[in-house]
Amino acid sequence: MSFRDDVAEFLWTVRRPDGLTDYGPTPGPEHVAAGREWQAILAEHGYACLHWPAEHGGRDASVAEQAAFAEECARAGVPRQLSIVGPDLVGPVLMRFGTAGQNANFLPRIRTGADLWCQLFSEPGSGSDLASVSTKARQDGTGWIVDGQKVWTSGAEDADYGLLLARTGGPGRAGLSVFSVPMSAPGILVRPLRQMDGESKFNEVFFEGVRLDPACLIGEVGGGWQVATATLGRERLSLGANAVGMFKALAELESTAEEHNLLDATLSEDITKLWLRVWLLRTTWERAIDEGAEPGGASFSVLKLLTSETYRDIGDLGVSALGLAALEEDQPLVKRMLVGHAQTILGGTSEIQRNILAERVLGLPRGPK
Ligand SMILES: Cc1cc2nc3c(=O)[nH]c(=O)nc-3n(C[C@H](O)[C@H](O)[C@H](O)COP(=O)(O)OP(=O)(O)OC[C@H]3O[C@@H](n4cnc5c(N)ncnc54)[C@H](O)[C@@H]3O)c2cc1C
Repeated sequence: MSFRDDVAEFLWTVRRPDGLTDYGPTPGPEHVAAGREWQAILAEHGYACLHWPAEHGGRDASVAEQAAFAEECARAGVPRQLSIVGPDLVGPVLMRFGTAGQNANFLPRIRTGADLWCQLFSEPGSGSDLASVSTKARQDGTGWIVDGQKVWTSGAEDADYGLLLARTGGPGRAGLSVFSVPMSAPGILVRPLRQMDGESKFNEVFFEGVRLDPACLIGEVGGGWQVATATLGRERLSLGANAVGMFKALAELESTAEEHNLLDATLSEDITKLWLRVWLLRTTWERAIDEGAEPGGASFSVLKLLTSETYRDIGDLGVSALGLAALEEDQPLVKRMLVGHAQTILGGTSEIQRNILAERVLGLPRGPK
């Protein structure tokens, strides 16, 4: 039996936790319990963190295997993991920058869903210009004290740990360091933000005199920019991988249009064009990894840009396929449209990806600060 057949058989026969849905890259508060249980089930059967090396409990899975797993999960209507942050971002970043003690402490708990992580990077005044973050971590004896504010932190309300980018020195990139933060530490306040789609996946996170012990530092003091860019590179890689789930979205779009008697020649042509784009993306994604492209490199900026904009265009077309039914409450295709637009912002906006391409690939002059 092929790996894909194994995965499909597992996904369709295994007991699913009550209330498990395909909630996307980050669980909302209502998805966390089922998501944790699902991650534990994946770990128990050898399907958690497929891309991790075997020494850390992964499977050293090839790109083709990761793609097959993601596609089969999309087809089965289940998430491929508890959350993107722990398995896709924090795990690989710890393997690269963390100490043996940090790896032993955190990796098994990420793999089994015991710990849910959030990413504490963006601030009210620092999103695209991440190197300007102003949340401060000042040394206190051998430990640290953190003061400041983060925003747009997905999943912070339920997270056990956060990956924090903070200023430990002067202005600019060299003044940044990265820490693991237990979200239950005294002095942390998490305030959920309500989104226009009614969900509440985002949060503001406030730090007031939060004490961190020395073991919380990840990498070097002043080495935070390298850790942050590695994290963002992994995020782009993961978002690029979403291409494999888009066929399901297109099939749903087509059947919805048929149901509403709106599948005319124009809509069919638009669906076909998007179908071709998704195929091209899937092939480009596989090629980039086969050729050993670096997660932080330009290839994944291209993939992040094109994948998120294709996802957005599928979402927009889905609304056309609904016709007037788009005005009804709780339409899944309307939600998908909103998520599609959000994808062009998170992990670095489309404008920022275009800047990266202009500067690093085309060699154009740098934009004004
Ligand atoms: C669904 C979602 C989940 C998120 N989850 C997290 C999370 O878990 N943790 C976290 O830390 N952050 C998270 N974010 C925040 C995200 O990283 C930021 O929103 C993003 O980096 C943009 O920053 P900003 O919102 O401050 O916009 P700004 O940086 O203020 O940008 C505003 C506009 O100006 C444009 N712009 C800015 N600079 C330039 C430039 N140099 N050239 C051209 N145009 C420019 C931008 O493209 C954008 O259109 C999430 C965002 C979304 C949408």
